[in-house]
Amino acid sequence: MNTYFGKSVFGGIAIGRIRVYKKSEQQVKRVKISDPDAEMMRFQLAKTVAMKQLQELYEKALREVGEANAAIFEVHQMMLDDSDYNDSIENIVRSQEVNVEYAVATTGDNFAQMFAAMDDDYMRERAADVKDISERLLRTLSGRGGESADTREPAIIVADDLAPSETVQLDKDLVLSFVTVHGSLNSHTAILARTMAIPALVGTLLSLEDELDGKLGIVDGGNGVFYVNPDEETLAAMQKLQQEEQEKKELLQTLRGKENVTLDGQKLMLYANIGNIKDLAAVLKNDAGGIGLFRSEFIYLEKDHYPTEEEQFQIYKQVAQVMAGKRVIIRTLDIGADKQCDYFELEHEENPALGYRAIRICLTRPEVFRTQLRALFRASVFGKIAIMYPMITSIREIKRIQEVAVSVKEELTEQGIAFGEPEQGIMIETPAAALISEELAKEVDFFSIGTNDLTQYTLAIDRQNTKLDEFYDPHHPAILRMISMVVENAHKAGIWAGICGELGADTSLTREFLAMGVDELSVSPGSILPIRKLVLETNVEEYKAGK
Ligand code: PEP
Ligand code: MG
Repeated sequence: MNTYFGKSVFGGIAIGRIRVYKKSEQQVKRVKISDPDAEMMRFQLAKTVAMKQLQELYEKALREVGEANAAIFEVHQMMLDDSDYNDSIENIVRSQEVNVEYAVATTGDNFAQMFAAMDDDYMRERAADVKDISERLLRTLSGRGGESADTREPAIIVADDLAPSETVQLDKDLVLSFVTVHGSLNSHTAILARTMAIPALVGTLLSLEDELDGKLGIVDGGNGVFYVNPDEETLAAMQKLQQEEQEKKELLQTLRGKENVTLDGQKLMLYANIGNIKDLAAVLKNDAGGIGLFRSEFIYLEKDHYPTEEEQFQIYKQVAQVMAGKRVIIRTLDIGADKQCDYFELEHEENPALGYRAIRICLTRPEVFRTQLRALFRASVFGKIAIMYPMITSIREIKRIQEVAVSVKEELTEQGIAFGEPEQGIMIETPAAALISEELAKEVDFFSIGTNDLTQYTLAIDRQNTKLDEFYDPHHPAILRMISMVVENAHKAGIWAGICGELGADTSLTREFLAMGVDELSVSPGSILPIRKLVLETNVEEYKAGK
């Protein structure tokens, strides 16, 4: 058994096979070879191994999940034997005199693109399968073999680091846990792990050269420990812990349907943070009162082109409908800094966190902003959508946003297109916004405090820099005073104020937030019921008196 330590992003126990995620460009190199026959022999051997693995997988799936689910492995076997696929690989090896890995990867990409472009839904879905079999061959050729990396089996993903654009591409149903060597506690990958409520570690002291792929792993998220090839005793202890946690979770489910009200009658809105419509199931399961932050930029990150108005409209409409009249706060795109989207063609910046991001992009690329606003205004007809603008620093920005919003509505009216009147609020995530919150409050319908960035900008600490995790202190009195001030200024102007940064889920501060009069906390879905439990047990006046 090997034991590694990392920083805990989210608690819980995950037990499963390890899948080492390597960036694809690192996987395959094009190498000139002199003996194509020997190369083709390697291919035949790898193919035989892959066929055998697929047969074993088929039989295992047949026993465990039935014939319909097992059929996919038969399809993979057929594809692996497909003559066009095999001919293409051989042709590349012989005509270009290159290594078979390169030929397999290129053929896989070409065939996947070809399938993806087909009209027929069934054929389009085969794009992923042809990539799968090519990856299986590549694993076998590189000696990484094993079933672990089978992308259809839920696994513990181990990676050097994961960019938001990579995490969004992973099939969430197949991820048991994330363990990364780099990455900070405040990165968006960490936030994603919290949203998915799965155990996760960052800054884990391990080497990806350690041949972890395929081995059995256990992630103890709460204690920041990652076991590889656990001994029987550890495995049994962790299984027991996992069972206990499951029971605790089930107990929390009895709080569903209860109002978030303290013993002395103070109410709190408990909303969920999401990045994707797939998160809605967790939102409903955990009985969120609404959505307090939908990070819409993830819609952009998932695509390789600007999402059209119609594509966005369908997503926002679906969220609004599923939430059935509950408030859904959609944040306009916050691209930039760590969330890079190639097709935005943003220039390299020395200080991206202090650079061209979020509302700054929207106000200078009106066509992008207007498309999103049109989709949001239109979707508002189908539920209680609210729009939230990120990275605000001045009244001037609000005025410019208001001008664009008015003009978008005029355009929709002229075109005879129906739209609603969503509430419009802002994020308070810069010290400037906190300090002028008294004036800002008169211009908007609500505030939501983004403590992730507010901490970064107030303490002058890059939230992405893992070396600075020990200095990143969202409990710093400067942050807590700003939160209190923002809430007070909101109330003076008759609007509500919430917190949607990660600090909102910090249960050591829930009572303090209630004492400050925070109206709403928007947290990852898995944190809602534990906070509700605390709220129900709190007497705010007694807490204040005892301070
Ligand atoms: C924040 O900054 O606190 C926030 C909620 O936004 P993000 O983490 O997406 O920057
Ligand atoms: Mg932010």
